[in-house]
Amino acid sequence: MDQSSLKLDVLIFGGGITGLWLLDALHRSGYRALLLEAGNLGDGQTINAQGIIHGGLKYALRGHPSRASRMIKDMPMRWRRSLAGEAPPDLSSTIMRGEYCCLWSLPGIRSRIGLLGARFGLRVRPRSLPRNERPAPLQTWNGPVSRIDEQVIEPHSLLAMLADQHRPRCLQIDIRSGLEFTTSGPGKIDCVRLLNPETSAPLDLEPRHVLLAAGSGNDGLRQACNLPGEAMQRRPLHMVMARGNLPRLNGHCIKGTAPWLTITSTLDCADRVVWQIGGQLAEDCVDATPEQTIARARSDLAQAMPSLDLDQVWFTSYRADRAEAAVDAGKRPDGPVHLLEGNTITLWPTKLALVPMLSEEVMHRIPEPGHLDDDLHTLHDWPRPTVALPPWERDLTWTDMHSATPPSR
Ligand SMILES: Cc1cc2nc3c(=O)[nH]c(=O)nc-3n(C[C@H](O)[C@H](O)[C@H](O)COP(=O)(O)OP(=O)(O)OC[C@H]3O[C@@H](n4cnc5c(N)ncnc54)[C@H](O)[C@@H]3O)c2cc1C
Repeated sequence: MDQSSLKLDVLIFGGGITGLWLLDALHRSGYRALLLEAGNLGDGQTINAQGIIHGGLKYALRGHPSRASRMIKDMPMRWRRSLAGEAPPDLSSTIMRGEYCCLWSLPGIRSRIGLLGARFGLRVRPRSLPRNERPAPLQTWNGPVSRIDEQVIEPHSLLAMLADQHRPRCLQIDIRSGLEFTTSGPGKIDCVRLLNPETSAPLDLEPRHVLLAAGSGNDGLRQACNLPGEAMQRRPLHMVMARGNLPRLNGHCIKGTAPWLTITSTLDCADRVVWQIGGQLAEDCVDATPEQTIARARSDLAQAMPSLDLDQVWFTSYRADRAEAAVDAGKRPDGPVHLLEGNTITLWPTKLALVPMLSEEVMHRIPEPGHLDDDLHTLHDWPRPTVALPPWERDLTWTDMHSATPPSR
């Protein structure tokens, strides 16, 4: 068997949005960087995300500015420039789910106070949405409906575009069949040995820096690098999807001072509208069965959009964990987190929207490139990873209110 070795400026583990964004930034700045993906690109969080480029609505609803709200409020403008092709990375071919989210609230004094907080606490402020411009189910809504200029992207297309641009620099790995770390201290990685998943030929990578951008996979990688455990927390969600006779709609229905239902819409491979439904529902139903969660979603939708006809609508649910840096009592970290230990940096963006900020922070921590050329021709026969399937294209059981034995697709 051939054995080869490769010196690198940076080796990245994980090809979700964090790993791919950083790979792009490093490559453009002249670093010799390689990304290793153990499954499908974006599996875990990015492919399951609703794709909202948040500007801090959740924090503003609570009415008091926090570190988290200050951190996130510039992100919609930052993404807008990349999505328009005006700033790197050029994301201009990302499919957009929408240019804004609708915002409306259930009746109640706390919800009204929450909306006032949003009006004054956000950089991208909500504006009133005239009745004739609202999506159909909100045209008959009695209360005010606003639009908030948070763009909504299609995560699959975002991943596919970055992966296409960096195909020579992304390798598929199989962590079960061989991945060996040589370390000379906690997080001090001298060499990573891989086996080509198709030929079993070994490859030794000698990186100056290693980025762990593997979402919930960071836990196992940290162990392999002799780094302390308990740095990460998982916060589960139980999301609902609806498909059928539905309009395109992206928005948040507010109850009290929290997004109670967050809905984003997309088209599936048969051109059917699919809604991803999260918000408080997805947090409250973590321990519920799919049937209970779908029942709750139907009842919430009936309150949030009384004129919506759910007769021809099919439902299913899926679970996904948010992987974040561990903070007090399972709370969400204020912003993106990176931990520099030895020559290893562990990364958790906390939100997809915060990845540009995380990327800038990390680029400041990595010294100038080591003048290695970018010729990776020795890797031409290595298998390349593909993007994960979005949740609505997976083999899930969909039910409608009439179906006793529902079809799976
Ligand atoms: C249901 C849901 C909805 C969300 N909606 C939004 C939203 O609307 N807006 C927003 O801003 N944020 C949202 N988020 C949060 C957002 O998705 C995440 O913050 C972000 O996608 C994290 O990206 P990542 O690249 O760090 O991790 P991931 O997307 O989890 O990617 C990790 C990658 O590492 C790979 N991997 C795992 N283990 C290994 C290993 N040992 N070696 C190599 N590779 C490995 C995985 O296969 C994967 O490709 C949502 C999260 C969830 C769960």
